[in-house]
Amino acid sequence: MRKDDSAPPPESGSSVSPDRPWFTRRSTLVVGVAALAPAALAGWVLTQVLAGSGSDGQQPRPLPASHSSLSPGQRDAKPGSTPSGSPAAGASTPATPVPAPAPAKGPLAGKTVVVDPGHNTGNFKHTDEIDQQVDIGTGHKECDTTGTTTNSGYMEAEFTYDVSLRLRAALEAQGAKVVLTHQQDRPWGPCITERARIGNEANADAVVSVHADGVSAGSRGFHVILPAKVKGGAADTSKIVGPSRELGERIAGNFARTTGSAPANYLGGGTGLVVRDDLGGLNLSTRPKVFIECGNMRDAKDAAQLTSPEWRQKAAQGIADGIVGFLGG
Ligand code: ZN
Repeated sequence: MRKDDSAPPPESGSSVSPDRPWFTRRSTLVVGVAALAPAALAGWVLTQVLAGSGSDGQQPRPLPASHSSLSPGQRDAKPGSTPSGSPAAGASTPATPVPAPAPAKGPLAGKTVVVDPGHNTGNFKHTDEIDQQVDIGTGHKECDTTGTTTNSGYMEAEFTYDVSLRLRAALEAQGAKVVLTHQQDRPWGPCITERARIGNEANADAVVSVHADGVSAGSRGFHVILPAKVKGGAADTSKIVGPSRELGERIAGNFARTTGSAPANYLGGGTGLVVRDDLGGLNLSTRPKVFIECGNMRDAKDAAQLTSPEWRQKAAQGIADGIVGFLGG
């Protein structure tokens, strides 16, 4: 994030209800972590396979496209089971009805999730285009921003796209229909107005915008940004403030569990939750939506995590688990 979403001063984090920190309601956290250790190991092994020989930090490899988007049964579903070349086929074998395509299964079957990879790696070369002002209802803002980088040059837009692909795979494995707002298939953007519109027009059950922060070294940890109640022009968040908070709390709790990261130490009062009224992507959303700032790219310790494919897999899994908790019950 950054620039578009210029950081509120640390004290503005007090807008989060201090009496409702997400972690106080999760007394089973330690037990849950212990129980999930084998699963985490399995996930790590899978990540190793996907990522190749290991973490090189600065050279993220593209994931195989949609490697888990269809179950083997869906992918290979064939009408009937009689070998077509069998000479006995027509005469003695009862006609086998052609099965309908297998419906998506899992807790997110029938649900649509829009995943918004923050920024675009091409934005740095298209500053005139992304600097255009767009109407976010409550005011005007730049169409999009470049995002930040680690000190060694790993771009936030690379990070957000990688995590978004992993998140898509995790959600599809749970039966969800997943829509990405872009797939690095355009030179810049989309504008924040279009990013919001994609979620609205998909009638998404949940929308998550993936980011990483770019603040001073020593500031560490993640936070989830929730929409404030705003009304103006095309912006009216009155109907999404409540469900978005629940979505955000679910994501924060699960993200902490899967990654081991702590809530941000520089805003949010240690809750990992921040409410903002200045983000077009939230103000213009009519669907439950949050942003997640997964860590601080300008802090060396956070950057070591953000540049690790294994850590990014954990991050995506935590976000996915939060969405399952929100939508799947
Ligand atoms: Zn960002």
